[in-house]
Amino acid sequence: MSRALSREQELQRTSRALRTLSGSNRALLRLVDRGALLKEICRVVVEEAGYGAAIVIRVEGEAQEVFTPLAMFGHETAFQELNDAHWFGAEADQSATSVAVRTGSPCLVNNIPDNPDVPAGWREFNRRHGFGSVLSLPLRVGGRIYGALTIVAPEPDAFDEFERAPLEEAAADLAFGLETLQARERHAATEQAMQRLMLFDPVSSLPNKAHFRRMLGDAIRSASDTTQPLTVIRLAIDRLQDVDVILGSSIADRVVEQVARRLEAALASNETLAQLADAEFAVIVGGSGAETGRLAARRLAEAMAAPFEMEGIQLDVRLVCGLAVFPGHGGDADVLVRRAGIALVSARHQGTHIAVFNNALDMGCVRNISLMADLRRAISNGELRLYCQPKVEIGPRQPCGLEALVRWEHPRKGLLNPNEFIHVAESTGLITPLTYWVLEDTLRQAYAWRAAGIEQTVSVNMSAHDLRDDRFLERVSDKLTTWGTQAGAIEFELTESALMQDPAKALEVLNGLKKLGVRLSIDDFGTGYSSLSYLSRLPVDTIKIDQSFVRGMIADPGCAAIVKSTIDLAHNLKLHVIAEGVEDDATFDALGNLGCDAAQGFSIGRPMPVSEFGAWLNRQPYH
Ligand code: C2E
Ligand code: MG
Ligand code: MG
Repeated sequence: MSRALSREQELQRTSRALRTLSGSNRALLRLVDRGALLKEICRVVVEEAGYGAAIVIRVEGEAQEVFTPLAMFGHETAFQELNDAHWFGAEADQSATSVAVRTGSPCLVNNIPDNPDVPAGWREFNRRHGFGSVLSLPLRVGGRIYGALTIVAPEPDAFDEFERAPLEEAAADLAFGLETLQARERHAATEQAMQRLMLFDPVSSLPNKAHFRRMLGDAIRSASDTTQPLTVIRLAIDRLQDVDVILGSSIADRVVEQVARRLEAALASNETLAQLADAEFAVIVGGSGAETGRLAARRLAEAMAAPFEMEGIQLDVRLVCGLAVFPGHGGDADVLVRRAGIALVSARHQGTHIAVFNNALDMGCVRNISLMADLRRAISNGELRLYCQPKVEIGPRQPCGLEALVRWEHPRKGLLNPNEFIHVAESTGLITPLTYWVLEDTLRQAYAWRAAGIEQTVSVNMSAHDLRDDRFLERVSDKLTTWGTQAGAIEFELTESALMQDPAKALEVLNGLKKLGVRLSIDDFGTGYSSLSYLSRLPVDTIKIDQSFVRGMIADPGCAAIVKSTIDLAHNLKLHVIAEGVEDDATFDALGNLGCDAAQGFSIGRPMPVSEFGAWLNRQPYH
């Protein structure tokens, strides 16, 4: 049923549609909150334009079946009823809103109460609420149907072509506005996530290093304003690397997370916790001097006393702590963090839990840094010298090899022993070039000795770091090939403690070396706590008893017992056994009585320049 509209009615209807368009565009320009925007648009439709009611619904679900009203205005009770109706949005629902979101096109239904195409219940609903026509406009956001703006009018013949055009434009503008808001929300969420990433550790959620530095800067400023001291504690998880290698990095991550939680729980109210690195935390203790700082460090370290339970395995976790105090150790965040770090390294080296920074530590550090620069140059400038120390077979008293020992002829400091620079080389990655230098020089020397009729196995010391060099086996193999070295002419010594830093990797590299035909020896045996079952799997030929036991064996029955049991153990495993640090005849004879195979030490021969080895060989007897 349609009736002709008067010119005035036509104008009125077009004008209410235009008021909707301009009102909603105003709202779009003004409002950045989605809820407020939608509410305002519904209000404009009803209060400013004069329609009966308006609702914006959101549509979700795989079959677009979940309708959620986001905003509404006018006839709220009708909308409530609609919302409660189980058929609204259901598959068979033919309401204008359902059709609009399913087809993606505007849906207009006129003359609802008397429209035979409209289901009876639906007609009844509209009659009860005085709705004559309904126009639902789909909202397309980001190429997908987001929902619909549905407008109802009391007239049975509302929304003709002229009235519809501005309303459709208003809906399109609204959809565009929603898209902009969505992009802005996504952007804000990304920014927030990035901000978190920049300031917090992803595993523990604690403030990270950058954040910590800022917090410490603030804390120092306020401590300085109030003339209060402050302590920085750096706490490192001892040997987390082992957990990572043996049990995998996901367990190591969980250990770090649990350590973080225990530290958090143990914090006092004047303490702030952060995470500086994978296995390292830091705490600012406000108002604290060295003494209370030390107590705080002890409390935090003790929070790890109970073992950590990881997939049925009980793990002992230990923290090593380094402390620096404001103002005594510096007034700058970076200086305090660095000095607490120096204290941490010293605590680790001394095997103590906790160390407080002192200036002597820093001087040691500066010395090491300058030594490190010198050492880099020394390797390329030919300042390293090859020394060697002979080994003798105890029974027949015959030479049975020699150990290559490096010396550094420092241009200013003179001849340096390895204990003055090996640890610097190890902590700076220079040890591997040093090992290659020693190996190359040893092979050259062994070649020269062989040419002179001297056939002795030469041992070269390896470092734990060499095990981590992926090209180690390849480079050793190339060097052996270059010098035409015979199988058994070269031996590598690896300390027991280096083996135990990464037992699995050590086994792999030693197996590779064995295939190259070199002999293998465990150096400083007795100091590294390796298990018998692990030892029996190693492809080694020799065990070298640590000199601390050998030098003490005459005076100390405890040392003698260790030497004896090591000899028995080696022989049970069918290994050759050598004692190092033999300084007198009594020790040499005692070792012979215990069945030890060979000896090395000052009473046999001190380390000497390789050029002197020939003369030593000619000097019989060897002991
Ligand atoms: P090491 O491999 O256990 O070498 C034995 C050390 O004990 C040598 O010290 C040697 O001079 C010393 N020594 C030998 N006999 C006696 C003795 O009867 N009494 C006493 N008191 N000491 C004795 P050196 O040459 O100072 O080397 C110290 C350590 O430095 C070595 O211990 C080794 O761990 C390391 N080192 C030496 N050369 C190299 C090298 O070329 N590469 C690597 N990675 N480490 C090296
Ligand atoms: Mg050695
Ligand atoms: Mg040794």
